[in-house]
Amino acid sequence: MSNWTFYHLPQTIEEALAILQNEPHSKVIAGGTDLLLELQQGRHAPVRTLVDLTQIAELQRLEVVDDILWVGAGVPLNRLIAWQPVRQYATALFEAASLIGGPQVRNVATLGGNVAHALPAADGAIALLALDAQVVLATPEGNRTMPLLSCYAGPAKTALQRTEIITAFQVPLSRKGEASAFRRVMRPQGVAIAIQNMGIWLRREEDIIADLRIAVGPAGPIPFRAHRTEEALRGKPLSEVSLANAENALLSEARFRTSPHRATAEYRIHLAGVLLRQTLQIAWERTEKEPEGSSLLVKG
Ligand SMILES: Cc1cc2nc3c(=O)[nH]c(=O)nc-3n(C[C@H](O)[C@H](O)[C@H](O)COP(=O)(O)OP(=O)(O)OC[C@H]3O[C@@H](n4cnc5c(N)ncnc54)[C@H](O)[C@@H]3O)c2cc1C
Repeated sequence: MSNWTFYHLPQTIEEALAILQNEPHSKVIAGGTDLLLELQQGRHAPVRTLVDLTQIAELQRLEVVDDILWVGAGVPLNRLIAWQPVRQYATALFEAASLIGGPQVRNVATLGGNVAHALPAADGAIALLALDAQVVLATPEGNRTMPLLSCYAGPAKTALQRTEIITAFQVPLSRKGEASAFRRVMRPQGVAIAIQNMGIWLRREEDIIADLRIAVGPAGPIPFRAHRTEEALRGKPLSEVSLANAENALLSEARFRTSPHRATAEYRIHLAGVLLRQTLQIAWERTEKEPEGSSLLVKG
């Protein structure tokens, strides 16, 4: 039995919005790597109408506009990671997107779906949060831009309305003296979601961390921005004392929980400290050069 009755392939955002408004039991689909599995496995109520976003040119846009990267929400991840500016100016996003699934998943999966699925440890979302990305939303009332965290209402619960479409992410370019990194730990046999991940962006002035952003998943019901940990490091050198203070701050502000299929809270607490040190160190070292991105190999 099919989990839907009608399948639309609109060519424009306006057309997609009109279908969503006119058909109350409709839902958008992009790569389908989350939604189709949920429908097939009965974890999502059957949907009468699927509105496929893949033919809409606006969602496929990749462009450097002034000091931001414009990343279309419907760009397949494999196309995103082949785009040099993302590697060069938003390295954490390049690294996260390179690690999602395998080549087949990345051929169709999108950042829009990664964010709208609303998991607190989605790799793309954690990188976008560290990079301070803004979300561009198309709604029946018009377009609006908002911070990434406004998309979230709880674990696997989006704050977006059914009739709203993420069209793009605006990602600020990392400049000279700024860099980012993303790291995660997976179960060896795991493919779907990290045990723990982290994205860090920082700006270095001589031997001081002048500014930084740290995003961690899962460390609460939604992707977590570690503000107190950032505070412990801002204006400090990358010394053992500041690292120890930052680790304490992270453990005091984040919520690491046991999940039956992935890891215990104790293991996650251990990993959080390891990832904090590793990811900070990598971002720090990258600031020594002009932003030129990572030489990491894409996971096959
Ligand atoms: C084998 C496998 C491995 C995976 N590995 C990883 C991994 O390592 N890391 C990771 O983070 N995830 C992983 N995933 C999960 C999934 O691939 C990603 O979350 C992916 O980015 C989802 O994108 P999609 O386009 O396929 O979303 P879809 O399945 O098409 O959609 C997901 C949700 O988002 C909504 N949606 C989609 N696009 C939009 C939009 N533009 N605006 C508004 N709502 C929208 C849909 O309605 C649906 O609710 C894996 C999945 C599989 C099957």
